[in-house]
Amino acid sequence: SVQTPLSTLSRQRPDSLEAFWMPFTANRQFKAAPRLLVRAEGMYYHDVDDRPILDGAAGLWCCNAGHARPRIVQAIQEQAAQLDFAPPFQMGTPLPFVLAQRLAALAPASLNHVFFTNSGSEAVDSAMKIALGYHRLRGEGQRTRFIGREKAYHGVGFGGLSIGGLPNNRKAFGPLLAGSDFLRHTLDLSRNAFSPGLPRHGAELAEDLERLIALHDASTIAAVFVEPIAGSAGVILPAPGYLQRLREICDQHGILLVFDEVITGFGRVGNAFAAQRFGVTPDLLTMAKGLTNGAVPMGAVLVSDAIHSAYMQGPPGAIELFHGYTYSAHPLACAAALAALDTYAAEGLFDRAIELGEYWQTRLHSLRGLPNVIDIRNFGLIGAIELAARKDAPGSRGYEVFERCFRDGQLLVRCTGDVIALSPPLIIDTDQIDRIVDVLGEMIRATG
Ligand code: PLP
Repeated sequence: SVQTPLSTLSRQRPDSLEAFWMPFTANRQFKAAPRLLVRAEGMYYHDVDDRPILDGAAGLWCCNAGHARPRIVQAIQEQAAQLDFAPPFQMGTPLPFVLAQRLAALAPASLNHVFFTNSGSEAVDSAMKIALGYHRLRGEGQRTRFIGREKAYHGVGFGGLSIGGLPNNRKAFGPLLAGSDFLRHTLDLSRNAFSPGLPRHGAELAEDLERLIALHDASTIAAVFVEPIAGSAGVILPAPGYLQRLREICDQHGILLVFDEVITGFGRVGNAFAAQRFGVTPDLLTMAKGLTNGAVPMGAVLVSDAIHSAYMQGPPGAIELFHGYTYSAHPLACAAALAALDTYAAEGLFDRAIELGEYWQTRLHSLRGLPNVIDIRNFGLIGAIELAARKDAPGSRGYEVFERCFRDGQLLVRCTGDVIALSPPLIIDTDQIDRIVDVLGEMIRATG
């Protein structure tokens, strides 16, 4: 039989949806009424029926410069033709060296070294290993405990799960890494509901770290991991001063502070990283998603000079870190990342979340008062509308709004439980912000 060309297969409904086990998806529900995207450009996806779908989620917090950006497309095409793959162990290619230097220049001053991975999950697990190895090299190998935070998401590796605070992600997978403990989360609707921007209350929750230090002793703790803004749990913002206080406490006790910036990196909150927007510098910083504008999988860990130099002390012929992935610093990912950074710079996209922040905030908060809306949160170009959970069916209202937005409103949003999370590409304009808010309002009313 004549094979259907790939260009046709990628645009039509597949014959069968059975074999693909979809990630983080209600497979049977989805396959009964699939939502299939076939192409994208700028602010819009197009679905299999060629309906334009406004992207209110930057894909999945990834495509900060919007879709199919010419520089990135061209970089990937050219790199694929020039060098598809090369071994990354004891061999090198030029681009990761250039990219690492570019990332170091974008990052806070003390973060000058980059370890490449293929995802956010791998970046988190790599940062955990780098932290453990660092303490061991300094003769503090008893520092093996990690502190995460309730409601945190650090990916799905066994490391990231061990410091993640989302019960559904953890409960099926056994005891995970021994000894991890958790800061209290900072979501507090009773004091902070409908706060424009950062919440007023909650900086004192950083003192919770002192409680865990008193319990476990600082000498057992390797690192504290936090997302400056948690995304996957439904957008949880820090009160001013909270991250600063975590930094102080970590410094007092020789504990490393790690920011997981997988969603906050690359302009999402203005500046390259949230570390800069909040004025707090971590010892390690994980990233992914916007690193390549989502175009090729890639993650990375930014590493401080102090940690890196602790590793560079042994005999020069010794491998300093027994860790790496076949696809670390993949040539296609490096090309995509360099072109993404060029696009961000050429279009001033790291300023957009600040330029548009006030308009975004005002428009989002205009949804206050709609049925079942119990909180609205925003910072940078991040937004969240929290809906009251239905009795006995938590998550169903959020899912219904998400589904209606796609089907009836031609708008892609993200729902996590009953929170509608928004993170549009940074190229969004005010008319498109209006459209997101209008569609959401209509669908929230229709859902009831
Ligand atoms: N860390 C954070 C803060 C994230 O938001 C995510 C993904 O959403 C991850 C880690 C995991 O990244 P990945 O899905 O690329 O493994």
